[in-house]
Amino acid sequence: MNNFKNLHDLLANLPDEISCRQYFEQFRWEDGKPICPYCGSGKAYRIEKGKRFKCGNPECYKKYSVLVGTIFEASNIPLQKWFIALYMATNHKRGVSSCQLARDLNVTQKTAWFMLHRLRHLMGNGDIKKPFTDVVQADEAFVGGKNKNRHADKKVPKSKGRAYQDKTPVLGLMQYGKVMLQVMPDTQAETIRDIIKANVEKGAMLVSDDYDAYWWLRGHCFHVPVNHSLGVFTSGAFTTNGIEGFWSHLKRMIIGTYFQISRKHLQRYCEELSYRFNTRKLKDCERFLLSLKHSEGPLPYKMLVQKSLPLNHGQSQENLQEKGPTEGTTS
Ligand SMILES: [Zn+2]
Repeated sequence: MNNFKNLHDLLANLPDEISCRQYFEQFRWEDGKPICPYCGSGKAYRIEKGKRFKCGNPECYKKYSVLVGTIFEASNIPLQKWFIALYMATNHKRGVSSCQLARDLNVTQKTAWFMLHRLRHLMGNGDIKKPFTDVVQADEAFVGGKNKNRHADKKVPKSKGRAYQDKTPVLGLMQYGKVMLQVMPDTQAETIRDIIKANVEKGAMLVSDDYDAYWWLRGHCFHVPVNHSLGVFTSGAFTTNGIEGFWSHLKRMIIGTYFQISRKHLQRYCEELSYRFNTRKLKDCERFLLSLKHSEGPLPYKMLVQKSLPLNHGQSQENLQEKGPTEGTTS
């Protein structure tokens, strides 16, 4: 089952809850043998028709399932629906909206929204968090607002600054076709410097446009400015074309799938997009298995206690606007 061709193939092999759980047990535990998440004991009894286990350690005796400690924990959603959502959210080039997923899975939009947010957490667990070490391209983009011509922002005279109040700035770093996106509160030199220092190793080469903020990084990186204001787009062998070209993916995702993304949640969408981009060379099946591996790990408490069907609408109201149709643009 580690080499299925498509979603149909996956579902044919995992037709129900028990088969999905047993598959996940084999995937997570050595030889599929259960390990108690509370005491570490390997002794357990299957209960509830095989869905869960009861720890065999007399000092523990706790009940658990293979889902404890993963993003699928504490939800009433069948594991097969999670697998379908995982497959769609990680493999579909532009992602899947909560409205679409709700229809495809026959769940409410609120449930679909909750699932997608957990899945985005998974995608944020990717291995791109390593520091960038070599020749790194850096660039900013601006998301949201009403200025449809934002892609022409490089032509805006510097005197107007980069403090676009109606837009959210995102810093992009790229190396060897791998990208990392970070939403920023502003485009102050200090903000940019802190993000780069945290993610780019000292001594690396940073290629960016000639925006002043990057000059402040001298001493940490070797800075190669590419002077866009003079119409120059490469500096010797160095260019920022990779990261600049990447912004069109962000634009397409926002316009094509999500329509509107609140500033509060933008970072998660950025992680979703960069996860798919960074794993673009994998086959769908390989990406599914990699994603399943990333389902492991601590969920923030807030996410864990969030019910799959929140009674309080307030929390997710903002992002339910995902269904649009309103515009979102990037540069
Ligand atoms: Zn135990």
